[in-house]
Amino acid sequence: MLERIEAAPKDAILGLGEAFKADPRSEKINLSVGVYQDENGKTPLLECVKEAERRLAANPTTKSYLPISGLAEYCKATAELAFGAGSEPLASKRVAWAQTPGGTGALRVSADFIAGNLKGATVWMSEPTWPNHPQIFNAAGIATKTYPYFDPPNNSLNLAGMLAPIEKMAPGDVILLHGCCHNPTGIDPTAAQWKQIADAVFARGVMPLLDFAYQGFGDGLEEDAVGLKEFCRPGAELMVCSSYSKNFGLYRERVGALFVVAPTAAAASSVQTQIDKVIRSNYSNPPAHGGEVVAAILRDADLRKQWEGEVTTMRNRINDMRHALVAALAAQDVPGDYSFMTRQRGMFSFSGLTKEQVETLRSEYAIYIVGSGRINVAGLTPANIDRVAQCIGEVVE
Ligand code: PMP
Repeated sequence: MLERIEAAPKDAILGLGEAFKADPRSEKINLSVGVYQDENGKTPLLECVKEAERRLAANPTTKSYLPISGLAEYCKATAELAFGAGSEPLASKRVAWAQTPGGTGALRVSADFIAGNLKGATVWMSEPTWPNHPQIFNAAGIATKTYPYFDPPNNSLNLAGMLAPIEKMAPGDVILLHGCCHNPTGIDPTAAQWKQIADAVFARGVMPLLDFAYQGFGDGLEEDAVGLKEFCRPGAELMVCSSYSKNFGLYRERVGALFVVAPTAAAASSVQTQIDKVIRSNYSNPPAHGGEVVAAILRDADLRKQWEGEVTTMRNRINDMRHALVAALAAQDVPGDYSFMTRQRGMFSFSGLTKEQVETLRSEYAIYIVGSGRINVAGLTPANIDRVAQCIGEVVE
């Protein structure tokens, strides 16, 4: 039976990471995989995480199972982080939730929940989007379609192109939106644009699903939640998939959360049972460690302050690198106006480099960028930025 099975294609982004590791050239630079790196090119273990782990290790309790939906104090603390502590959906107990294995786990639980409970819904996603998005929803048997998002000539949001298809979505369909730091374009709606999007989505009876994987990496923890908060209207329904891979640097611990905001507290109770049912037949209950670390940090005033400082450091470094890359490209007399990069937010920049230019950067200069032209700005450092600018100059000439 098994000899007939063909190899699956490699994951486009993770495959590039493997190729980078295997590349023997010492001058190689990895700007592909979506992982934050500090000015030394290292993905740091946050100091607040180290301290929380020290405290947890000093007072071990149990390794018994967590509840299906995870640690209650983790879910509460992370819901407050996303929605705001005094927000109406939380105060009205309209939020069903679950601690999930990463943001990917949250998306997959949401997909299974949609497949089982919002039957026939199509999930609409931006073109372009994170390549795993369609895979996750298709794996759950859900049809996916795309809506325009990016305006290449102006390197900006194609708001009109985005709003028009909402009119054609079937009521009950789901629209997947990036809560902040859009991956891969780095382009987010303004607060006023979020309002227009939310108006159109709710007028059509479409369910918003916000993928919130980069809170704190754009303009700030509060600032990055403006889009999400725009959807928190009285009685309105909403789903949110949070990830703490990036903002807590807990990638391999798999820490995320799913929040489903129902119209009433009673509806939220029923939704909670359906979420639990989905999880039970998938991974039964989440891993504990990462959730314990995040809860320990968010619930302790000093650790929380330290964490907010560390998120600010990461965000500022990324934004500094955006400005430094634009300056370095100008210093190398690279033709074109790259100032749009300073207006993008989050780890990624849609550079406008073509597939061929990306390929030449990899084969001739050992610089790894995703085929779409998406640069991980967090892979830039003061030590490598001039070489990156120089090599980009070589390939765009
Ligand atoms: N959504 C988006 C847009 C992402 O970029 C990522 C990570 N690359 C995720 C979700 C999932 O993150 P994780 O599963 O690692 O928490």
